[in-house]
Amino acid sequence: MPDLLPRARSSQESVFAKMSRLAAQHGAVNLGQGFPSGSPPAFLLEAARRAIGTADQYAPPAGLSTLRGALGTDLGVDGDDVVVTTGATEAMGLLAQALYGPGDEVVMFDPVFDIYLPQARLAGATPVTVPLHLKEGEGWTLDLAELRAAVTPRTRALLLNSPHNPTGRVFSRAELEAIALLARQHDLWIISDEVYDELYFGQRPVNVRTLAPERTFTVGSAGKRLEVTGWRIGWVACPAGLSGKIAALRQIASFCAPTPFQVAVASALPVARETGFYEDLREGYAARLRLLAHGLRELGAQVHEPGGTYFLIARRPGWDAEALVVEAGVAVIPGSAFMAAQPAPEGLFRLAFCKSEAELKEALGRLERFTTGERRPLARHQP
Ligand code: GLN
Repeated sequence: MPDLLPRARSSQESVFAKMSRLAAQHGAVNLGQGFPSGSPPAFLLEAARRAIGTADQYAPPAGLSTLRGALGTDLGVDGDDVVVTTGATEAMGLLAQALYGPGDEVVMFDPVFDIYLPQARLAGATPVTVPLHLKEGEGWTLDLAELRAAVTPRTRALLLNSPHNPTGRVFSRAELEAIALLARQHDLWIISDEVYDELYFGQRPVNVRTLAPERTFTVGSAGKRLEVTGWRIGWVACPAGLSGKIAALRQIASFCAPTPFQVAVASALPVARETGFYEDLREGYAARLRLLAHGLRELGAQVHEPGGTYFLIARRPGWDAEALVVEAGVAVIPGSAFMAAQPAPEGLFRLAFCKSEAELKEALGRLERFTTGERRPLARHQP
């Protein structure tokens, strides 16, 4: 029997799929994989129900013109430059295929979202990581000199992610201006994963596209914005004139994204804007962030609050992700899962707070009981 190729043999279950599987197996509260546990907005669900039965066949590979138009208006770009994808994951994979290949390097930050490294490698390119340094009181800092030093004559693209998963870091305008300048100087593409663009807690994130429109691909997600991660509707806003080629490439991946969900998202995007849906979303998440951060601090964890996303990073030496899911009944993502070249500080975790208040309280209660139980055997050994 023939063997699988090394790239298939070395593929592993994603840490998110694994932690969700373990959470289900152990009846754990799932603060691991980032998906909301609440209901998506009614205006979106109703639109999808109406679409099923009326829009059930293929859409054009670039996406329904209504959705491309709605995205163009929402993002402030020409709808013709937008390509609808089967989730933002596919958009990132398409860009990897389109923009770099064997011998090329692509620069990205470390900690890194799990798909960026294998997508670059599958394209034959070499990922080069630049560390975000976790500093006491400052959070995750970027040293622009280190970023500049990572660029070589082989570099083809800079891969950004702001708000950044897993750290929640929102890159400042000054940093993005420096990055745009660097990209111009070395004639690099910018791939900007902005799936959490509407999930921020301070200043609205700056779109790097506005600083370098001629070379920036902006990736977005209806799953994140409208709380439907399973619908697999993502998009990429391309530099002018390039969407046709990206759409042609996406035909050979999944041809088109699910048509009825495209119809629903097209009608929901303006409604979300007009009704203040994103403001309410941010308010709700800010409250849940405060709840989780406070509870974790009470348990002795150090918490690094995010500027965006629905994740926070906490450090609690002595806790271990596998033990937490099995013994405490709380699933989290170990910090080590995001570290490419940097060592993971001991007891570093990412916790998702896109869950109900009741679930967050339950998780904190379980962690408290686990921590108390953890101390009990130690206490017995004391003289
Ligand atoms: N973006 C989600 C997270 O970071 C998970 C994505 C996935 O499981 N593919 O948790």
